[in-house]
Amino acid sequence: IDVVRGVEPAVADAITAELADQRESLKLIASENYASPAVLLAMGNWFSDKYAEGTIGRRFYAGCRNVDTIESIAAEHAKALFGAEHAYVQPHSGIDANLVAFWAILAARIESPALKRLGARHVNDLTDADWAALRRELGDQRMLGMSLDAGGHLTHGFRPNISGKMFDQRSYGTDPATGLVDYDALRETAREFRPLILVGGYSAYPRKVNFRIMREIADEVGAVLMVDMAHFAGLVAGKVFTGDFDPVRHAQVVTTTTHKSLRGPRGGMVLCTSEFSDQVDRGCPMVLGGPLGNMMAAKAVAFAEARQPAFADYAQRIVDNAAALAEGLLRRDVRLVTGGTDNHLVLADVSGFGITGRQAEAALLESGIVTNRNSVPADPNGAWYTSGIRLGTPALTTRGLGTAEMDEIADMMADVLASTKPAAGADGKPSKAQYTLADGVADRTVKRAGEL
Ligand code: PLP
Repeated sequence: IDVVRGVEPAVADAITAELADQRESLKLIASENYASPAVLLAMGNWFSDKYAEGTIGRRFYAGCRNVDTIESIAAEHAKALFGAEHAYVQPHSGIDANLVAFWAILAARIESPALKRLGARHVNDLTDADWAALRRELGDQRMLGMSLDAGGHLTHGFRPNISGKMFDQRSYGTDPATGLVDYDALRETAREFRPLILVGGYSAYPRKVNFRIMREIADEVGAVLMVDMAHFAGLVAGKVFTGDFDPVRHAQVVTTTTHKSLRGPRGGMVLCTSEFSDQVDRGCPMVLGGPLGNMMAAKAVAFAEARQPAFADYAQRIVDNAAALAEGLLRRDVRLVTGGTDNHLVLADVSGFGITGRQAEAALLESGIVTNRNSVPADPNGAWYTSGIRLGTPALTTRGLGTAEMDEIADMMADVLASTKPAAGADGKPSKAQYTLADGVADRTVKRAGEL
């Protein structure tokens, strides 16, 4: 850090302040973790200075033999870890991985058959008229993904994201009575809408998803099942989600981030069957910039770690801790969406305390507990203020905390939530953002959190 300080002290200070923040608070952000020193060190090296557009053994640049080596190691570990036919480890993030997957599916299912039909080998061989017709066909495809308020992700076809502009989108939700995915309703929607891509996976759904049923539905309507397992990849790698709940076993294309429950560096990855591998490997330069060799080196290290027996134990402790946190909150009268969890996350509905998700998030942060606000199904407070907070256990499990500590955290959280009240806004009505926290609660909670 002193080398950095010698160049720009303010950056060195921010780096050390971040270390202190992450050490001193309780990190309950469901999408975050603590990568190992081996993973962090593998990120900081000379691969950062190397260009390597293309893929293993087929680069647009000279001198890529070492990038080929690390990309091959990362891909082989990924295939073995997840039992996948093919792994593409270049995506810089989860959003990038999803874009690679969308283009690969469009190319394999729409563009390639059209080229064959027209007797062309490459898009450059098409007449302008044929190319215009093909572009219209590519732009006329449909995607069916989980609704945002049920826990879906923006990249699953929603308007603020490029996927919503590429595809005509419809979403499936959850049963209002149980909060669980309603597979019969999903099947009905798929039959009527006939999507090219059926997307499984989520950012804020606290339950397992049955991917065997989703594949049946996809096959019935001629769709490709693509699962975005960004959140729960660590639970798949650690064999907590097996059988019907293992997406790699059922989906043709699976995307993920590498930095959440999988505990690797920031990044993304696509796994697929051989039907899609050639198109997936065209991710760079189709939609990605040159691959980041240093990040692929860190992915290789993280995947090697995840293949160790200790990782399966870690994955099991993540879900045990989430279950203990949910239990502790329920016992203290905190309402939970679906009434509990069977993965790494818990979605608490804080409206029973008379506050918004935003107020809960801020009061907890002031008390040393880092969470993020999240909408709940049919949320009256919308996506900005929300009525919920999302909690996840991957990071605290890495720190070695167990079920007894989860109960203690549930107690601290219930204390903070019950002590938070909306402040009056400028118009005299209760604000959705400003709040008051009873005297002494933040200090008391910071102290308790520090003792864990
Ligand atoms: N997919 C899902 C399900 C996610 O939850 C997220 C991020 O939270 C992403 C994709 C995007 O990942 P990234 O931030 O690495 O682009």
